Amino acid sequence: MSIYRCPHCKHLGEHTAPAGAGHCARCGGETKLYDAVHFINQILARYTAALRELDVLREASADGVPPRKIAITH
Ligand SMILES: [Zn+2]
Repeated sequence: MSIYRCPHCKHLGEHTAPAGAGHCARCGGETKLYDAVHFINQILARYTAALRELDVLREASADGVPPRKIAITH
């Protein structure tokens, strides 16, 4: 069982094939199939990075410092 998000139609789904290459159940386009744990870890990493960036921007906004002059470290 693997998970994919189709780059063509954005369908999010499960696939019976193991991680690798496959086809979207909705549009039939080629898509990458990911191991479920790997896929979820990648989503959580991006979500956490976005939250950190949002916190930095909120702090900069509260301090009156323009957000584009803040260096973001991950
Ligand atoms: Zn698709």
